[in-house]
Order: sequence, then C-alpha cells, then structure tokens
Amino acid sequence: MAELKNCRRCNKVFSFIAGLQICPACMQEDERIFDEVSMYIRDNPGVPLSQVSKELKISYDKLIKYVKEGRLQIRAENGGYYKFCEKCGAMITTGKFCKKCEYHITAVLDVSKKNLQDKIEEGEKRKRDYRFLAHDLDSKK
Ligand SMILES: [Zn+2]
Ligand SMILES: [Zn+2]
Repeated sequence: MAELKNCRRCNKVFSFIAGLQICPACMQEDERIFDEVSMYIRDNPGVPLSQVSKELKISYDKLIKYVKEGRLQIRAENGGYYKFCEKCGAMITTGKFCKKCEYHITAVLDVSKKNLQDKIEEGEKRKRDYRFLAHDLDSKK
C-alpha cells in the first residue's frame, strides 16, 4: 500500500509518490500558475519578477521557486543568468556561492586547515619531546 503523506501546501492527505511534497491537486495548480506566468512573460519579455508577482498576484517566493527549479531564468547585467547561492539561496551571477557564504566557507576551510596544522605540529612536538629523557643515571648508582 502506498504511504500516505500530508501535502506541504494544503495539508490534505495524499498517497505519497517518491520525491513529491505536494498533492496532485496542488501540483496541477502549480502547473496552471506556471503556465500563466510563462504566458505573461512571453507577452512581456524582460519583465521584472516583482511586476509579474504584482500583476498576476503570485507570491514573489513562488516565482523564485520556479527560477530555482530552472523553469524561469532571470537575465543578469553581465549577459548571463542569475543563479542562487547553494548555501543560503541568495541571488548570484557567478560561481556557486554568494560573497558572504564564499567568505564564510573559505574562513571555515582556513580554520580547519589551521587546526590540522596545529595538530600535526603538536604531534611532531610530542614525538620530539618523547626522545628527551631526564638524565637520572647518576641517581641509579
Ligand atoms: Zn495539496
Ligand atoms: Zn550564500
């Protein structure tokens, strides 16, 4: 028997199909909205997302979701397309992460590199210390 799950959007119970978070009805609604959006964009090429959101009364987040899914693309000034930071979801035009996350990731990497180095150095030091025994041969006499 299929697993039952609550739809993330309308909370209705539906038989769960792998990978789906929303029920078939919501999915259909989603498709309908997407059709509406793509038609609007076709009639108004290069229209900003905020205008689509206002004109069609569709939440900005929903539109962003379409962009994230790669169904809509926002042209960037540099001729490419906007993408989203893989970590925080901020809009970016190049690379995989936004400046903030990139900075954070590099910082974390640096710290772990430093920690590793410290550990190696500590190990080396311990090894070195190990070789030096206290000179107590006289007392054994
Ligand atoms: Zn639903
Ligand atoms: Zn980010």
